[in-house]
Amino acid sequence: MIPCWRYLRSSKSVLGFVFVASVIWLLLDMAVLRLSVRDVNTRLLKERVIRRQDLTRRQDKVTPLMETFLEESVVKQEVSDKVSDGVDVQPVGLYRRRKDKAAVKDNQNRRGNPSKVKPDSVAKEPVDLQNGVEKNDSVALSRRAVNAKIIEPAKAAPNTSVRVFNQPRAVKEQPPVQELPLKEDNQKEPPNQGARNTSSAKDEKLQLQNNSIVAHPVKASVHQVLSLDATAAPRDPDAVGQFGQPATVPSEDSVKMKQRWNEGFFNVYLSEQIPLDRAIPDTRPEICAGNVVHDELPSTSVILCFVDEVWSTLLRSVHSVLNRSPPHLLKEIILVDDFSKKRYLKENLDHYMANFSKVRIIHLQERQGLIRARMAGAAVATGEVLTFLDSHVECNVGWLEPLLERIYLDRSKVACPVIDVISDQDMSYKMVDNFQRGIFTWPLTFGWNALSDEYVKKNNMTAADPIRCPVMAGGLFSIDKKYFYQLGAYDPGLEVWGGENMEISFKVWMCGGQIEIIPCSRVGHIFRGQNPYQFPNDRRKTVERNLARVAEVWLDEYKELFYGHGYRHLLDNIVSDIGDLSQQIQLRAKLKCKSFKWYLDNVYPELEAPLVKAAGLVFNRGLRTCLSVHAGVLFFETCDLSKQSQHFNYTWLKQIRQEDMCVDHNEGRLILQPCSVERTALHWLHKSSKSKLPQHLVAENGGKQACMEVIKSSKVHILHLAACNVDSLFQQWEFTNYYAQ
Ligand code: UDP
Ligand code: MN
Repeated sequence: MIPCWRYLRSSKSVLGFVFVASVIWLLLDMAVLRLSVRDVNTRLLKERVIRRQDLTRRQDKVTPLMETFLEESVVKQEVSDKVSDGVDVQPVGLYRRRKDKAAVKDNQNRRGNPSKVKPDSVAKEPVDLQNGVEKNDSVALSRRAVNAKIIEPAKAAPNTSVRVFNQPRAVKEQPPVQELPLKEDNQKEPPNQGARNTSSAKDEKLQLQNNSIVAHPVKASVHQVLSLDATAAPRDPDAVGQFGQPATVPSEDSVKMKQRWNEGFFNVYLSEQIPLDRAIPDTRPEICAGNVVHDELPSTSVILCFVDEVWSTLLRSVHSVLNRSPPHLLKEIILVDDFSKKRYLKENLDHYMANFSKVRIIHLQERQGLIRARMAGAAVATGEVLTFLDSHVECNVGWLEPLLERIYLDRSKVACPVIDVISDQDMSYKMVDNFQRGIFTWPLTFGWNALSDEYVKKNNMTAADPIRCPVMAGGLFSIDKKYFYQLGAYDPGLEVWGGENMEISFKVWMCGGQIEIIPCSRVGHIFRGQNPYQFPNDRRKTVERNLARVAEVWLDEYKELFYGHGYRHLLDNIVSDIGDLSQQIQLRAKLKCKSFKWYLDNVYPELEAPLVKAAGLVFNRGLRTCLSVHAGVLFFETCDLSKQSQHFNYTWLKQIRQEDMCVDHNEGRLILQPCSVERTALHWLHKSSKSKLPQHLVAENGGKQACMEVIKSSKVHILHLAACNVDSLFQQWEFTNYYAQ
């Protein structure tokens, strides 16, 4: 027993020695390892610290994909500096940024730019949960487009020259688009946008059960959304405008600044001082970075159209796409030069972009306008999804995947990023409030409408949930390319700018698709006070004409609301020729699109859209009886709501109407005539806030005013036009119901 104990005691001390030695060795080893790691990472760590100070919520997890991406973009940044030197652009800061204010949420400015358009009070927030966010897809997702005929993609616009850089790929004509059915079974299981959890097994099961899925074969694996950003560690953290901070021009340069302003109707001079690849704050709601998307997202062609765009903003737009898009999803960037006059947008631009193999440039040989320019870009696009952007934007981190994800899940969805604001004054990048949707008020005026806290709560919405929009702002969106052509693309008869956002929005909703704002996708945009380019014809007339085309094709009987809100003059063909609409009307029939009434009921029920201004009986205060029709003749009788012959409408075109007949005049006597929408047709002012005679029915005829009056007679009362008399009760009229002022 004792020798055994001794033996154990001696081996105990050996064991103790071995233990102590290994601890010392381990500590030494760790110290050496730390030293070498520090060597490698010092620069990176420093940059990260800087970055983290200014940008919160950025994801720095480096994946293998991100590593390749960062390597690629370093090369590109160098090229970008080199080449930009040649065209007199200084990408590093000359002035120091203002360090005091972080470029974050700016509620004051919220309505500023995208949001300067104040939503009319009539456009209330949505009330119907069914039509709210993501609650009832089946309501709005018409399957009618299933039978839509294939629509050939528009051929490359006439007079188009296409340049392809560093690519063996020639510009081919697009093959005819195969029709893809917009079937229920074409939709994939969403990977639970808000949550981190997805069930790939569930997705695979869905796929197996459903062998008729034809679009994007579903491989159900998912990944956390990529937060790739080549600018995450900017070379010059002190550069002007870096991190999207507001910047100022020193007072001695203010003359230069003012001189350059009109080149773009924003601070062009300041923009030139800001790096083309500046970092901007990640404005996504916090939960977005943790969301997952499918691995098999479709690729996209990013199309940027421009006419006389400012050099620095055009390049910053392109770099932001290159720097913050996953390379495998970015098929190409197509720049469509809409016959710009500025010389730097020709050879200089070609030369610069030759360094970026993904960038292609189309120089149009004739001014086509934004709408046809986009179609020229789409016609040569090779990606599965078209992503349209303006030429003065900055795409934010993680902007692309959430858009493509929505389209991957349902190819009839049109996905729009939240449009953050790049200040036209100090070029700062500002986050806009979440929970905003695109709406319109009469006469087709675009605006933003904030969802109330109450609505958000009631619908259990998170800040990352897609928001269904009655209309899109127009400049920035992604759409499945085949779906775009299936819808007949844009109306090519729309000129220059304006109304195209309404056209595509109505077309998408009414012909089976949906429009959504995706809060996890953010793109900054410079909102300008004026369009800096020329309109070949009068600007106002161009926009009005575009809107009238949209109203005629899509608004059905509601087009009277459009004309009745200040656009009556457009009804006169001589004053405004809105062109041939037959193809657009045919297209709508071919696609079996739903009615505008359906759109109002299901997509935008909050809009006040009474079809008439007033309706019911037309009561005369002096005679105390009502207007009626018998055998096509107007006369008076005791008021009786049950008699259809006494029912009249007071329309948006200010006609007094019963079915197809309108109250008109013939040598002073009032009669019924078939209604005409001509501007010259007789129309009546009534209850107008501007009129001194609100109770009267005042006819405006050839510049003269006259009032509807009934002369009491023992036989037949006479209805005629008389000189207006404020006090006469025989000139005062009342409809049973009033729906609008
Ligand atoms: N644009 C174009 N051709 C035109 C008018 C506009 O290519 O005839 C381009 C313009 O350069 C910009 C985009 O279309 O990139 C949208 O125009 P803008 O920014 O003026 O519209 P907004 O943002 O004010 O709605
Ligand atoms: Mn714009």
